[in-house]
Amino acid sequence: KYRLRYAPSPTGYLHIGNTRTALMDYLFAKHYDGDFIVRIEDTDIARNVDDAIESQFSNLMWLGIIPDESIVEEQSPITKEQYKELSDKYGHYQQSMKFDRYVELAEKLIHERKAYKCFCTTDELEKDREEQEAKGNPSPQYNLKCFKLSKEEVKAKEEAGVPYSIRFHVPENKEYIINDLVRGEVKFESENIGDFVIVKQNGIATYNFAVVVDDHDMEITTVVRGEEHISNTPRQLMIYDAFGWSYPEFAHLSLIVDETHKKLSKRSGNALFFIEQYRNQGYLPQAVFNYIALLGWSPVGEQEILSKEELIAQFDEKRFSKSPSTFDMVKMKWINSQYMKSISETEYLTFIKPFIDNSRFNLENVDENWLNQVLLLFKKEIEFGLQINDHLDLFFNDIKVSEDALNQLKEIGDYDNLINIFENNLTNITDWTVDNIQQVIKTSGKEADKKGKAMFMPIRIFATKSEHGPSLAEVIYLLGKEKVLNNIKEVKG
Ligand code: GLU
Repeated sequence: KYRLRYAPSPTGYLHIGNTRTALMDYLFAKHYDGDFIVRIEDTDIARNVDDAIESQFSNLMWLGIIPDESIVEEQSPITKEQYKELSDKYGHYQQSMKFDRYVELAEKLIHERKAYKCFCTTDELEKDREEQEAKGNPSPQYNLKCFKLSKEEVKAKEEAGVPYSIRFHVPENKEYIINDLVRGEVKFESENIGDFVIVKQNGIATYNFAVVVDDHDMEITTVVRGEEHISNTPRQLMIYDAFGWSYPEFAHLSLIVDETHKKLSKRSGNALFFIEQYRNQGYLPQAVFNYIALLGWSPVGEQEILSKEELIAQFDEKRFSKSPSTFDMVKMKWINSQYMKSISETEYLTFIKPFIDNSRFNLENVDENWLNQVLLLFKKEIEFGLQINDHLDLFFNDIKVSEDALNQLKEIGDYDNLINIFENNLTNITDWTVDNIQQVIKTSGKEADKKGKAMFMPIRIFATKSEHGPSLAEVIYLLGKEKVLNNIKEVKG
């Protein structure tokens, strides 16, 4: 059975980059009816951010990337009994809860001479590094000083209470090979890697060590993660070998870059980086899920709008792309607008209302049914939730006719007669319905001998103070007779 994990370090909030990793792990697991695990890798205590874990989970849940196993038991789709059985079997899903386990295993390696206590101080290490660099070595490695200590020397230091870290001893002249699902065969030479720390002086395991222990303990079959981890992979393979454990399968996903070809980050121009930002601006979780699934992976056909279920069904680990993928905010918005169009009216109304800016629009005493109709006018127009506010001014506040609209009028010219006729016909409507308004627009055009743009544009601008908007008759209907007649007067000036 496939078991995949997303293993965030709680050093920051959930963003596009780590979400893509989580999503690919999730799709991979679910395609094969496997397990998806979220494990918190919080060994780098100093870098942990307080609410990062909370941000990771709440945003993953929002997106619908729901772990079977994680520290948030209540959210798990599996039963309480199954959960208990699994967490008993696989250990804790947060590394800080199992520090002892790592130390125990590191000590085992010390006994086997595969690791050793290193008493070097940071200053000594730094000094040695500088010396090596001065001699022209561009990538200095640990000088093996403590590897060479005799038993007696080690004992003496231990008795004197000299603080130590535990260092892994890298085997000489060994080649390590993985068959990466994205990059194919990748080889690493042990000569390029110096003895590295697996447990720090403070007794806490390092990432490279803890990740291997956990992937082994949790019976992870496949490690899907970002390509920035490829340089860690040989160190991890050595640790698997040292314990005699078999390797998982690896897939190192290619970079996500911005329009300037730089790795996507919070500084990337107009691209929103954090998932929270998408939530706050009114993107639909299923749209964000859909777009992120297309970063570094592609389905077989041309169709790009794919539901979570379709993505799970179509997932294929052979279709990861080797080259970087460019994050395209325009496409993200387009996909969101497609989802906005396709959800039901009720879903849309529930979704959109929280995005209305109450400091700009007074919703007290507003008729619910009228408000719903106004909001529905823009279901097909807006790309994300907050944009609704750009359209509501017309209905709630007194706005000025736009410069662009006035320029349009100038261009068209000769509209006075049409507007007078329209104003008169509109005043005479007794039964205020969309159909009757539609009729009035038509007959006014006929009477003034105007059609097409020469008819619609002036009417739209005088009635709504703007040169664009959704269905004219519907807008006029919802604005109400009084407001439209006022608008006409104002634009006439
Ligand atoms: N904790 C690592 C990170 O947040 C992920 C390690 C891995 O997937 O192996 O980058």
